[in-house]
Amino acid sequence: MPPKHPQLDEIQKEVQRADEQRKHLIDLDLRGYLGSRGFLPNYAFVRAGTWAELLTPNEVRRIDRPPFIALTELAPGNTLYYGARRYSLERAGFLPKEASLEKGKRCTCGHIETQGPRCRACGKDLSAVVAEVRLMPPPVVLGLSKRRISSEEEERTRLGYEVEWDWRPKDPRRLQADSLRLLYEHNAEVVALNKGPRAWFLDEEEDHPLHGGFVLCKRCRRFLLSEKELEEHPWRENRPGRCTMGGSESDLLHNLLIQARAESDVLALEVPRPSELDGPAVEAFYKSLLAAFRKAALITLELADDELYGFLQPTPEPRLPYRVVLVEGQEGGLGALAALADWPGEEKRHPFHELVEVALRLMHAEEEGCEKASYDCLMDYSNQWDHPFLDRTLVLPFFHKLKGLEFKPAEKDPTHLDELLAQCESDLERRWLLEAQQRSVPLPQRAQHTVALGETFTRFDFYYDQGLGIYVDGPPHLEEERRQKDQQLRTQLTLMGVPFLVFREGEDWAAGFRELAVWLSGGPAAGEAWEEALQLADPAYRPLLEGLRDAGIGPPDAVGEDLMEAGRIVGQSIARWGSMHLVPPGLVARGLEVKPDTPLELVLEYLQGGKKAV
Ligand SMILES: [Zn+2]
Ligand SMILES: [Zn+2]
Ligand SMILES: [Zn+2]
Repeated sequence: MPPKHPQLDEIQKEVQRADEQRKHLIDLDLRGYLGSRGFLPNYAFVRAGTWAELLTPNEVRRIDRPPFIALTELAPGNTLYYGARRYSLERAGFLPKEASLEKGKRCTCGHIETQGPRCRACGKDLSAVVAEVRLMPPPVVLGLSKRRISSEEEERTRLGYEVEWDWRPKDPRRLQADSLRLLYEHNAEVVALNKGPRAWFLDEEEDHPLHGGFVLCKRCRRFLLSEKELEEHPWRENRPGRCTMGGSESDLLHNLLIQARAESDVLALEVPRPSELDGPAVEAFYKSLLAAFRKAALITLELADDELYGFLQPTPEPRLPYRVVLVEGQEGGLGALAALADWPGEEKRHPFHELVEVALRLMHAEEEGCEKASYDCLMDYSNQWDHPFLDRTLVLPFFHKLKGLEFKPAEKDPTHLDELLAQCESDLERRWLLEAQQRSVPLPQRAQHTVALGETFTRFDFYYDQGLGIYVDGPPHLEEERRQKDQQLRTQLTLMGVPFLVFREGEDWAAGFRELAVWLSGGPAAGEAWEEALQLADPAYRPLLEGLRDAGIGPPDAVGEDLMEAGRIVGQSIARWGSMHLVPPGLVARGLEVKPDTPLELVLEYLQGGKKAV
């Protein structure tokens, strides 16, 4: 037998990878061919991405990209090379329908929240914040050939964009080993937001006019990408502007962020904050952990750079400042991450252990390595903004501990109902909670919640964070002295405009719960909006929608909306709340598929699950 080449294994892997890529390219070609023959992609293929149209001297050239790549590569303000020319992406091919843009709230921590009244990144209550951010799917942009590119444009392209990633877990598989948790979700909802060129944010200026996001002129469809353009573009009373269509200040659409979404496989690692680390070292630890985890996963799973994205997702829990999240770049799933979450695995050596060894080898565990980080270990092009933080010595001990670790299904977290039940002080209170649960009325966030009333205070048995208190009155409240005191306090509450509801023992609670549901869905205005929605809805689905209303779900944002796919109407949604659609059978990829007789609980679980912070 000939002597084994010392690098035989690596060479074989390389050959295999090249082979995979070749197969991938053939697939791509087939898709292009079918497209050119008029076959529109459907769900068997990757969801149609977005495109740019380059106005070349001879033709309009269409450049297609999948959503997460289009998000930055085909973003307004970027420069694209095609043929021997440079194209500047500055204009939208179409105007977005303003009314259909999803709205979001900007938290002081930087996170954009669209899913509820509480910031999922830091826990702050945002109910009083105005939803001024508008989220636009990646627009079709037009590219104009430009011979000369200003140094500002050059810089903008070089610095790239500020992107926030958001995984919205529904029901991930949870695994546990010691204090570590591994979460895996197939076809998870992942959203990425392009908040604008990074160049805007490097400028420390407090009230930079572009910090709110992209600005689009509705008249000429041009994106205004610098302070100067913003100043000079609109026509004003006393001086002409640069807008060729005569647009004025009121034609400018502000606070636009670009939002790409995909259903991809997600693997997340929850590592509690190391107690010995403090201050900036905490962030450095998580950034290094992400870099090591992702790079090792690329090698172990044999993926190309754009087949696996990674990001840190902040959480409001002090013991877990960030979750390390990996996302497959291809919708529908390559099935690569699934192997890491399969415990016990079928293979002799679990891929997770292989990953850990690769990470240790990458980070020069057994040799004299670089001081903190290098391109051989943690650095790569995609994490260039984290380079100053990366430090392999912060995470090496952690990866040593991972060797040989076995994950098991995690114990179930106590449910919110369990927690509330544990805080109850009487059977009557427990009865109230169980009845609320049974009636599908949302549960209160708190129990035994004290509210100050000038000099004195009152303690609600339950409290909704939207500002509603609940009293559940048992026999002691019937005593004369107690009753007078209650009366006094409750009058004061009414005077102060603090809403509350009283449930008394021995009375029928049905009316109270109905009132509660209406209040939680947004008060009398919501009642009217619901009426309107029910009138417009497909009559077959009316009973189902009424059930949702009575369970305290707010009125939908739209009913009977057209669902578009590659510029073509593929059906109508029954109702939509934010990004959550109820759709008729056959459109399952666009939301929850429901029939008129779908059990209410299933629909509630979908709607409330999507809003729940994990
Ligand atoms: Zn926040
Ligand atoms: Zn204009
Ligand atoms: Zn190194």
